[in-house]
Amino acid sequence: MFMGKMSLRSRYVPGGLYFGPPAWDAPVWPARDIVESSPPTLLPENPEALREVLQRLNIGRQDTWAPALLDQLRGGAVSDVVLNLVAPQPESILPRVLSEFELPQLVTGLNLVRRCVSANRAILAIPRDESEIRYQWGAVAKGHPFVVRPLINRYPLGHPSILLRSLLGLKIQPYASPADAGVILLDPMTCWILGCWIEFGGVPQWRPIELFTHNAMPRLIAANLGQPLSQIFSDAGIIYKERQCIINGMMAGELANPEQTVLEPWIRIISLRPPPLVEQSVDCIRCGWCVNACPAGLNPAGLMAQVRMIDSLPAISAQEASACIDCGLCTYVCPSRLALATTIHSLKTGDARADTPGEAT
Ligand code: SF4
Ligand code: SF4
Repeated sequence: MFMGKMSLRSRYVPGGLYFGPPAWDAPVWPARDIVESSPPTLLPENPEALREVLQRLNIGRQDTWAPALLDQLRGGAVSDVVLNLVAPQPESILPRVLSEFELPQLVTGLNLVRRCVSANRAILAIPRDESEIRYQWGAVAKGHPFVVRPLINRYPLGHPSILLRSLLGLKIQPYASPADAGVILLDPMTCWILGCWIEFGGVPQWRPIELFTHNAMPRLIAANLGQPLSQIFSDAGIIYKERQCIINGMMAGELANPEQTVLEPWIRIISLRPPPLVEQSVDCIRCGWCVNACPAGLNPAGLMAQVRMIDSLPAISAQEASACIDCGLCTYVCPSRLALATTIHSLKTGDARADTPGEAT
């Protein structure tokens, strides 16, 4: 089961923003037998029953780019379920891989959620350039109440507040729940696990992990939940000592200590790189690139200037900064190497966040 040879190939920021590795081929789907074979006889029919299932299966915690389904199931009116197949980070291929190899389970999981929240339809949010995924889901949609919506660009379109605005014209606060707008946003991993539970009677105790290492081709591996990251690297023959380990993407991920961090369900991408050279930033040259890049419509340079000018920040700055989604794009594009995203994050939260991966390149 799950064996197979893999063959892969904004209006805010025109032209697309894919700056990870070029489309890469993972040699195989990281196949493992995963579950018992006693499918559930009774399926949940409402949000409360689905909540219980999610708790029982321990499917809960997600990162800020993928709100936990458990938290969204509040029982309020739901108009749509959106399956978010936009890559959560520029280099990620997992939505594409799951669509290619686990489509039946995704369809099963999606229909389960749709039925439990009484949504009439499910919307598939798919980047326009992902023609294979669009084709696959387009074929499936003929037999289900699914609507395929191609979207321009990739990162950071996958962020809920950007996605719902692009997809449905809905405005939600940067880290508010999509359920506030009557939408359930489903990430493909949760959808897949629910589908596996229905079809095979259990959930996988491993996860497909995208591994990005300096000077090597990206890899897709299978790793067991609870396994230390150091063990995962050793098993994969990857040197991790004296490297920076970043979880869930180079743009907006978290630094981790591989010896002290274990694989949890919310970890999808692990990157290793040599510690970055310390680069001297220079003054803002007012090029405006950060303003053009910001998907939240902020003026990162202006916010940075305010932080530098005064010690006690006016409430208005913090309020404006609260719209930041921590995508890291402003830092990425800044030719003056200014630590914009970290500074704006500090402004937003009132505390300093050191060593944000996206800041140090
Ligand atoms: S990290 Fe920068 S580009 Fe991204 S939303 Fe925040 S201010 Fe805008
Ligand atoms: S991208 Fe950097 S240099 Fe350009 S306006 Fe923004 S802060 Fe200034």
